[in-house]
Amino acid sequence: MAPGKTAPRLLQDVLTYDARYEKRAANLLVSPPPQHESKGRALAAVPTRNCRHTLLKKCEQSQLPVAGETPDHATVYKVASYCTRCRWHIDVVVDHRSDPGKDRPCKKGDTDYLLHHFLYEGEGDSDDANALGAQLQPHTYTFRCSAPHCPVAVRISLKPPRFSEQDIDTLTNQAQLRRRWEVAKQMAGDRADTTMARRVDAVDFLNTYLQDSLNPSPGKRRIPLLNKRFLKTFGRDCDSILKNLGFSNQSEPEEDGSMCEVWYLPKPEDAKSPLESTLRNKIEDARYEINTIILAIPEAERTGCRHVPMYPGPSRADIERALACADYAKVQGREARSANHEEDHPHYASLGAIGDFDDALILFAFSRQCAVDLDNKSYYFECLQQIAVGRKSEMLETQVALLASEGLVSRKDLEHAYRYFNINPMHGPVIGDDHIIGSFRARLSDISPLQIDEARKQLRVLGDARKSDKLRAEAAGAIETYEQALAWFDLEHSHVDDFVMTMYSLKIEDNPASLETAQRALSIIAEKRKSQRLRQFLKTGAMTEPEMDMGDAYAAFGIQDRNAALDLEVLNSQLSMGGGFGDSARMEKAFALIQQDQASNQNNHIADKNRPEPRRNSYPLETWPVGLRNIGNTCYLNSVLQFLFTIKPLRNLILNCEDHMQDLTPEALKGKTVGRQAITADRVVVAQKFVRELRAFFERMITASTDTVQPNIDLASLALCRTDSPEGPPKSPKVTVTESTVVDSIDRSVASGPQPPPPSGDATPITPADSVMNDDDDAKSDTSTKAMDGDQDDRPAPPTRPPPIPPRPEPQPATSTSTKTKISILEESARQQDAAEVMGNIFDLISCAIKGEGVMRENEQLDAIKKLFFSDVTTILNTAKGTGKQLEHRDFFLVTPGQRDRPLYAALDDDFGQQEIEGGTRYDYIEAAAPIQIINLRRIQFDRVKREQVYARAHIGLDTTMYMDRYLAKTSRLGEDQLLELRKAQWEKQGQLRELDAERTELQTTEIDGMNLAETLEETSTFIDGLLTEKSEHQQRNQPGQDSLPTPPPELADALHDKAKHVAKGVEGIDVIMRDLETDIDAIFRDCNDVPYRLHAVFTHRGGVTGGHYWIYIYDFQNDRWRSYNDDRVEDIDEKTVLEPETGVQPKASTGVVYIRADLVDEYTEAVCRRPETIAEASQADVDMRDAFDDGDYDGMPSLEPAALDDVQIIEGVDVGKE
Ligand SMILES: [Zn+2]
Ligand SMILES: [Zn+2]
Repeated sequence: MAPGKTAPRLLQDVLTYDARYEKRAANLLVSPPPQHESKGRALAAVPTRNCRHTLLKKCEQSQLPVAGETPDHATVYKVASYCTRCRWHIDVVVDHRSDPGKDRPCKKGDTDYLLHHFLYEGEGDSDDANALGAQLQPHTYTFRCSAPHCPVAVRISLKPPRFSEQDIDTLTNQAQLRRRWEVAKQMAGDRADTTMARRVDAVDFLNTYLQDSLNPSPGKRRIPLLNKRFLKTFGRDCDSILKNLGFSNQSEPEEDGSMCEVWYLPKPEDAKSPLESTLRNKIEDARYEINTIILAIPEAERTGCRHVPMYPGPSRADIERALACADYAKVQGREARSANHEEDHPHYASLGAIGDFDDALILFAFSRQCAVDLDNKSYYFECLQQIAVGRKSEMLETQVALLASEGLVSRKDLEHAYRYFNINPMHGPVIGDDHIIGSFRARLSDISPLQIDEARKQLRVLGDARKSDKLRAEAAGAIETYEQALAWFDLEHSHVDDFVMTMYSLKIEDNPASLETAQRALSIIAEKRKSQRLRQFLKTGAMTEPEMDMGDAYAAFGIQDRNAALDLEVLNSQLSMGGGFGDSARMEKAFALIQQDQASNQNNHIADKNRPEPRRNSYPLETWPVGLRNIGNTCYLNSVLQFLFTIKPLRNLILNCEDHMQDLTPEALKGKTVGRQAITADRVVVAQKFVRELRAFFERMITASTDTVQPNIDLASLALCRTDSPEGPPKSPKVTVTESTVVDSIDRSVASGPQPPPPSGDATPITPADSVMNDDDDAKSDTSTKAMDGDQDDRPAPPTRPPPIPPRPEPQPATSTSTKTKISILEESARQQDAAEVMGNIFDLISCAIKGEGVMRENEQLDAIKKLFFSDVTTILNTAKGTGKQLEHRDFFLVTPGQRDRPLYAALDDDFGQQEIEGGTRYDYIEAAAPIQIINLRRIQFDRVKREQVYARAHIGLDTTMYMDRYLAKTSRLGEDQLLELRKAQWEKQGQLRELDAERTELQTTEIDGMNLAETLEETSTFIDGLLTEKSEHQQRNQPGQDSLPTPPPELADALHDKAKHVAKGVEGIDVIMRDLETDIDAIFRDCNDVPYRLHAVFTHRGGVTGGHYWIYIYDFQNDRWRSYNDDRVEDIDEKTVLEPETGVQPKASTGVVYIRADLVDEYTEAVCRRPETIAEASQADVDMRDAFDDGDYDGMPSLEPAALDDVQIIEGVDVGKE
């Protein structure tokens, strides 16, 4: 017999089952889950690429349950839904009509059968054949409840979208629409429409046709092919789409006798029972899909649409009601998890249960599973047992003990016990008890006293399994009491906890096999002594500081008088300055204690960072990313940290960094470089320190029970310190200044290495960061200059050496670098770097810290960072000497925004395209593209004419999908030669573009900041005009003294005005030509879309050359939403805000964008990863289970994405609310 699954499990499987990928994995809907082998590698139960469906109701096709209604033997429910993500249609039919003898459907409150427990019956015939591949065919799976008196059968139908991806492309792709328009012009000549169809038009018209066909009215059934709008929108390309939907076409004679082709709308039958499948349904389905497609098109592009948006509600609650599992009993603290479909431990799936079942339901699932699949009872017992332990559930553990006392032993335990005595488990049934006892005694003689316990335990397992009192008696006698536990460790009552831990470690070191006994003994001592530290030690294996008392806390800050009210802000600022204090965790603890004491004894409060903050939004904590408070002028650091956190493989690498740390031996480091610098032990030490800080911080980002956390200062200073100059400010600061703006060829070295300083000596270094500076400016510029000069002697001492005794901090004049606090040193570093550099620095740090997997060119270490972020770029140099090739690994591309708004493609085309160099030309392409592409925008540039930095504010238009094809060496469809041909065509147009740009710049440039030539002329004209008016007024009033003003010729103002207009027109004309050229360039690569990348993050800056503020927008692929991460604020934001330019005096500017290869977005990104501590207490247990009882490797196992149907805003802009 095969196992079954309870109704909630069935529903969860439906919500994650994806027929498109069925052949790649076991069919998770109908195959029994694989038995979990604790030693084996844990596999994701749900392939990551599967759609986590967001199901919405199709009311016309449904027969919904009514709340409170009791089903009878005639009841059939049908919940028809479609998914707004993958557009599949999923029907759940719950049929109560079977055998009239079965009249007790399972339900909550029933004494025996609380939930349906379904067995898979088979695949029914699909009523809707489809010629596509097997994965894309409709399937109907039937399940029947295993309860003896329950009549319920469930049919689950999965139907592919009515519109394939290709159909949608045919209908909405602009290139195709343009071609169609060209064809229309050829066919219809003068009668053709004058503009091409918009992206939205075809689906919008189609929607109207379909709507008309559902509600037919006379005169609206016939569409002549030559109708000019129809012709340019659909043409001939859409015949198969129309026919699939029931449209028909034929030739008819026109009045003038000529034949013309005409389309007729489909003729669906009248609405029938929702249980029948008809053409009408097909049309309704198509309209739901069109609704999704249209709403995905930006609102600005759908003005004038006839389509009226539909906002159907989510269907999950209806399905739950139909399956009688709308509100089953849940374990406390787990509700959110199951709603998120976070992947449960495989043991739950094996029981046909899900993680949020309360203990009674777990037992119910266990008993149902044993009832239908007796053969695997010992495995199900194993599942139950481990869930019990994992949950630390007394109720379940009691039940397990009860079952065990009845002789039920788990499969794993039994096999293990036999093997322990060198008996093949297969032979167990034929071997006598005496043989086993003999084997046990033989063992005792040659094992150490410490192992005896283990032997006894194994013997008891066999005794239980074999129901043998003889074996049980032999096995009796383990550590049960506090006295025994102390004796086992050779301890006295008087020994303190620290000593207990020491003895524990010694014992395990002596004999690793005694681990389990030692843990048991330790846990007995911990419980007897009620020692939190010992419990913690047992749980985490780490020693915690001895408890700090109030006296220690005050002493830590050097405060003698504990009874005076203190200025807590001062203490707090001392704390955040960090300098001078050693262990920051200890100081924070001391501060927290003092605050507590001051609050209760002195009624002295401050706004406390450690106290729960008031919530900032209403999202449940576990569904919302944490904000990062700003610790100084380092706000771009927060953006970088937020970004890195969302890159799942990177985050997992950091969280599990201890498994990957680089060995410090000379052999391990020999001959390897990171960032072109040899890896030295010093670099590795600093890098590992950073990685550990980052891990601790990521953990806090995950577990914090507040909306925000604060990066610690050590993390920040390590992130800002170059790996080749440990713990000081950078030796050779990279200043984001380059020569550009005008026609000169761009200095390419900036793309990969330190950038050249500005050519003029008087230009000060630029600090692209940041907001308000609090310190004394003089002191700062002083030290930053020193740091800039790289003068070793003047560099501040390494900030991390604490003095032996915490001194009482006193305000000191900031006269020398040695008295600078950590934060100010940090801010100096910060001023010299920007987000791009910090990110590169962090990559190098991580690479230095971790073991490589080999070496690449130039001995550069190959590792996870390289694989994620580094592309292999080839530069082709054509000079008189011939053709040369340069190869380089790059973690980002640097493009110049220029002076005009334009799309990212255009900027990248410039960067990659052919350029003049001394004695020849060069161009770039990507030999191997990294899955994550970072493109930085050079906003601050050096203007040679003005000899100063200018901020290039041009808007760079981003597409949410970018095709990398044109930058690659080759793609699956185009070989190197074919791509080169296309490139050559592009270069020619780029040459013209550059000439025009030069001309345009010429026409624009003036010496006046913020004004172009046309504006300058216009202003001058207005001024002269005003002057003349004023003068004539004065003359009329006969005032003296005004005649000394020069009199401009009266026609000058007009002439200037004309000139201004002329110039503006000229610029406009050039703009038009340039835009056309860019469109042409774009068109060269129009069909190159094999390698799509999706937009993931946009680093954004508002400010100027002297400072400003950074934040980041990050897309959450799992929840289809953009968020803005602005220091401590993480907010929902619509896509428009991310993509569209701002107006105003100082519009925001993107400084970096990140694209991720489209097929990897789910695997590589996860914006939300929270397990707030307070909420996690109950679920923590399951995590423990994994650690303590499961050797399975969970590190590599992606967790499922949250897809809380009830919380997700399903349709953009409309809050569907909860059902
Ligand atoms: Zn879906
Ligand atoms: Zn049932």
